[in-house]
Amino acid sequence: MWHILGAGSLGTLWATRLARAGLPVELILRDSARLHSYQQAGGLTLIEHGQPQHYPVPAQTPDHRQPIQRLLLACKAYDAANAVSQLASRLAPGAEILLLQNGLGSQDEVARAAPQARCIFASSTEGAFRQADFQVVFAGHGHTWLGDPQNLQPPSWLADLQHAGIIHDWSLDILSRLWRKLALNCAINPLTVLHDCRNGELQAHPAQVACLCSELSELLHTCGHSAAAENLHDDVQRVIQATAANYSSMHQDVRQGRRTEIAYLLGYACDAAQRHQLVLPHLQALHSQLLEHLAARGLPSH
Ligand code: NAP
Repeated sequence: MWHILGAGSLGTLWATRLARAGLPVELILRDSARLHSYQQAGGLTLIEHGQPQHYPVPAQTPDHRQPIQRLLLACKAYDAANAVSQLASRLAPGAEILLLQNGLGSQDEVARAAPQARCIFASSTEGAFRQADFQVVFAGHGHTWLGDPQNLQPPSWLADLQHAGIIHDWSLDILSRLWRKLALNCAINPLTVLHDCRNGELQAHPAQVACLCSELSELLHTCGHSAAAENLHDDVQRVIQATAANYSSMHQDVRQGRRTEIAYLLGYACDAAQRHQLVLPHLQALHSQLLEHLAARGLPSH
């Protein structure tokens, strides 16, 4: 049984693909009010290539008593630890939690909230967004890397993902992948917010991007992730070009007045620099400017 917490963009993308492959899936929704809205909607809708498909996946609330063996955590990084704490008493011995959260920091918070469970981290290039409640558009096909820094043995259920058409690889260095993605995010997303622009418009600010890449590379080396620092600047420029027409996820969050995951992205990078007594003036200035920008819009800094 796959228990999936969160019927947002990624939760729906995973739940619908697993369910249509005939695998048993149970959604865990926030509370009875959300469960009621879900029941009225009659299930999840996934829109792929413009075609909606409906999946009546069963759902429950966190206070249900069914034991959980395998939990896919599909909420935002800032909700992850609380969500798992609510389910701690339901986790069966040997339970596994698959963490889809972007950035770094929430994985450690979850591991502390559920010390008895095995935590498997994911880093994904898939893209999805909510068109309406319980209706999700599969916007970008991509790849998901999974890994466990404490146990390099892959779990047996990777075959389920294969069966469900979820393209993935077991990574022996998932932390390096998460750090690389975090660095790409720190070099691009905050600047798109501060310049209020699409990713491609950062081509007009090459010096700013180059300074950030150089400081981020220094941070990655210092944190013991030298492989994640390799050709960072080239990769950032490639991503800026390849996604030139897009607004970054952080830009979209700020524009729509939604809380960002800053504490698990740029905030995490700045905290790590401080822990290592590294002075990274451009990164730290960027963090301060972003915090001011968020505060001016009434958005939280964490
Ligand atoms: P999302 O659309 O906002 O969905 C998050 C879901 O979690 C919401 O449905 C929310 O419920 C639910 N939730 C939060 N706390 C809960 C709780 N205690 N109990 C039950 N449900 C709870 O977020 P997302 O876009 O799927 O992102 C999830 C993570 O994946 C983020 O870290 C994001 O950065 C990462 N990611 C996303 C994408 C993407 O394309 N979307 C790609 C790569 C990585 P409500 O509906 O009730 O608010």
